[in-house]
Amino acid sequence: MSRFLDERYKELEPYTPGEQPKNLKRLIKLNTNENPYPPAPGVLKIISREEAEGLRLYSDPEAAELAEAIGDFYGIDKSMIMTGNGSDEILAFIFMIFQGKNRRFYFPEISYSFYPVYCDVFGAEAVKVPLASDFSVNPRDYERADGTIVITNPNAPTGMAMSLKDIERILKSNRENLVVIDEAYVDFGAESCVKLLKGYDNLLVVQTFSKSRSLAGARIGFALGHEEVIADLNRIKFSFNPYNLNRLSIKAGVEAMRDREYFEQMTGRIIRTREKFVSEMEKMGFILLPSKANFVFARHESIPGEEYFTKLRKYNIIVRYFGKPRIRDFVRITIGTDNEMEELLTATQEILKEYRQEDPQYEKKENT
Ligand SMILES: *Cc1c(COP(=O)(O)O)cnc(C)c1O
Repeated sequence: MSRFLDERYKELEPYTPGEQPKNLKRLIKLNTNENPYPPAPGVLKIISREEAEGLRLYSDPEAAELAEAIGDFYGIDKSMIMTGNGSDEILAFIFMIFQGKNRRFYFPEISYSFYPVYCDVFGAEAVKVPLASDFSVNPRDYERADGTIVITNPNAPTGMAMSLKDIERILKSNRENLVVIDEAYVDFGAESCVKLLKGYDNLLVVQTFSKSRSLAGARIGFALGHEEVIADLNRIKFSFNPYNLNRLSIKAGVEAMRDREYFEQMTGRIIRTREKFVSEMEKMGFILLPSKANFVFARHESIPGEEYFTKLRKYNIIVRYFGKPRIRDFVRITIGTDNEMEELLTATQEILKEYRQEDPQYEKKENT
């Protein structure tokens, strides 16, 4: 730490992204919820000499073409759409400018671990609301909060989705609070609350191209909300980094958003792989939370989460382990291709076999 850093950032604990190994050969990467399939075919066409030469020009600060493509997809006006350099940037803006009277954010204790970091960066208080005993988000815990509410739906890393009815309940009892629904994983089987925008001007929906549209490396996110809320977000964006999306990413995003058929095929494929994988894991004695995301959260009665994580690594398979209270026994596994999941299942069988031999207590535990 240099002597120049502001006092207020000296204690800041940054977000830890999942590992991005340099050499992907022979590695099965199921740790950061990326999509195993390439982006829509149209995305390939944007990379040309002409486009490369065009990079001498600034990008469109309004990313109007992209906002239009998003608007067409959801049937909403572009005045209700704001785009960002990944949804992480949009979330940062939200934590910067929508702190409410008490500078306070309510979110589930187990959720996207970036939220508390944003609170620290922007000097807001984080109110961490415990999940119910089955790991679900209970809407009653958010009724009449005195601050901004941020909920990931489906939640991460549990993968569990909330119904629109429950979200509506939160919106109804918080007319004076902004309610942010982070829908990073909504396209893998949950219901989007975009349709609730009609009735609630306190709703702000955040989505990303990183997961369901296979464009994590392009860094594109967007927010959908009421015109004034979107105008506020743009106000801060234009005071911070007006050209936040680069020219190539805007084009890539347009292509990915327009190809609805490809999008539906790929998300459908991942959902089918997930369902098959869940049932195979259950056969081996794993307990999985009900997932509507492109990952599952799994634990086994006999093998500790950290040990399973470490052993998978020896088979060149990376998953994510958090090691936090209440979720120490779990690992989060991204849904990859069918082949990748097969390899993980085979490795898991081997690991369980080894574990049985190493651990004399194993049989006893199995039977309890
Ligand atoms: C992946 C993820 C994001 C960030 O997505 P980017 O658009 O890549 O910045 C936001 N929220 C949650 C819950 C995520 O899992």
